[in-house]
Amino acid sequence: EVITVQELANRMAERGGDVVKSLMRMGVMATITQSIDADTAELVVAEFGHKVKRVAESDVEIGLRGDEDEAEHLQPRPPVVTIMGHVDHGKTSLLDALRHTNVVSGEAGGITQHIGAYQVQVASGQRVTFIDTPGHAAFTEMRARGANTTDIVVLVVAANDGVMPQTVEAIRHARAAGVPIIVAINKIDLPDAKPERVRTELLQHEIVVEEMGGETLDVPVSAKTREGLDKLVETILLQAEVLDLKANPDRPAEGSVIEAKLERGRGSVATVLIQRGTVKVGDIFVAGGEWGRVRALLDDRGQNLKSAGPAQPVEVLGLNGTPLAGDDFVVVDSEGRAREITEFRTRKRREASHVATARGSLEQMFEKIREGEAKELPVIIKGDVQGSVEAIAGSLEKVAGDNLEVKVRVLHSAVGAITESDVTLAASTGAMLIGFNVRANPQAREMAKRDGVEIRYYSIIYNVIDDVKAALTGLLAPKM
Ligand code: GDP
Repeated sequence: EVITVQELANRMAERGGDVVKSLMRMGVMATITQSIDADTAELVVAEFGHKVKRVAESDVEIGLRGDEDEAEHLQPRPPVVTIMGHVDHGKTSLLDALRHTNVVSGEAGGITQHIGAYQVQVASGQRVTFIDTPGHAAFTEMRARGANTTDIVVLVVAANDGVMPQTVEAIRHARAAGVPIIVAINKIDLPDAKPERVRTELLQHEIVVEEMGGETLDVPVSAKTREGLDKLVETILLQAEVLDLKANPDRPAEGSVIEAKLERGRGSVATVLIQRGTVKVGDIFVAGGEWGRVRALLDDRGQNLKSAGPAQPVEVLGLNGTPLAGDDFVVVDSEGRAREITEFRTRKRREASHVATARGSLEQMFEKIREGEAKELPVIIKGDVQGSVEAIAGSLEKVAGDNLEVKVRVLHSAVGAITESDVTLAASTGAMLIGFNVRANPQAREMAKRDGVEIRYYSIIYNVIDDVKAALTGLLAPKM
């Protein structure tokens, strides 16, 4: 089974019903959602007079990304900067301070809001984009998901503290990504600031600043007094010039999700960094396992935009679900194509998570646990914000404690409404399906009813934990 009837129809740009009829004529009874094998698909394709081109399943995605732009279409774009460094060395302070470097009149005084990334414009009109999620976790996680968003790493080292373990870690991450480093020696306003010591310590990690005959640019700054901030931005622009950053703005947009959340009254909202092309209101797009049509674009001041181009961070409204940080964002030409890609991805994810446990409902799972056949209670957690999802997952994994024989295993946890794929996963693994401040979408509800999957809704974390505890304890009680 390689392709669903619907997918095949989409790829041929034929109507699903016609494909079903054609299959019937061949003696194959399949509904639109069922899969058929490659040979049958090939026959159907020939039947419709299309050329057969067998591709690996993953090729559904080819063409999404990867085609090179012609050199003549490339135009200079702003650099994208991530700030890294040891805890308390001033990453957040520096991001905040830089954000207010915006000197262009008319823009000043605008209410800024946190969307995960922002752009600063300097007097010359040049722009710099900062990813506003400090820390290595964000950087590494994004990269692990294939998103190479950062052009330049600004390594913050506090002048009174020097090179610390996370400084070294940051250097390693930046190197692994092949991203040039600019050193910001911070807190130079402090009396015990020793910038020289920082430069010397960096030598041990093969970072040689210009002053010491090397090539790494360093800027002494103070996020507190704002000393050196202009110089830092200038240095970033200088480094950017060396990198010769370019992108084609005249093509369908591609980018990466920086942050995504579910907001009351706004639905799923994602901050996307556009990497090439231009996104416009009305565009149809895929973001990770979700898709949608751009309903509105907002900048970091909450202002509506009609379009956004390379290196520009924008909030995108109009998603059908909540993607993950690091997911790709790609504008596609039709809803059919968007559906095809997300269905493919959802299926892949489902297949990957299926490995876990044998089939069976939650009841059967309880039964198995009672009989001592199963030692784990699988759970699936969907919630409205990443923080609570993580908190619940973390607490539940600890619930079992030492004296309980059965442990909780979090199969899947994510932000967003409960979807069909969650129900499928719960049905096939016997997992407990938890919705925290989120509901199931109508299709998922329908499916849950049909497959006998119970969805449990909560709005208080303690209640989740209590229920799971009770479930586990209750299961163990009959053991006399
Ligand atoms: P992060 O953990 O790297 O994000 O560091 P923060 O930005 O939270 O800063 C840690 C502490 O250092 C806070 O108390 C800041 O007020 C302080 N701090 C940051 N930058 C400076 C600076 O340039 N000078 C001084 N004196 N304090 C600073």
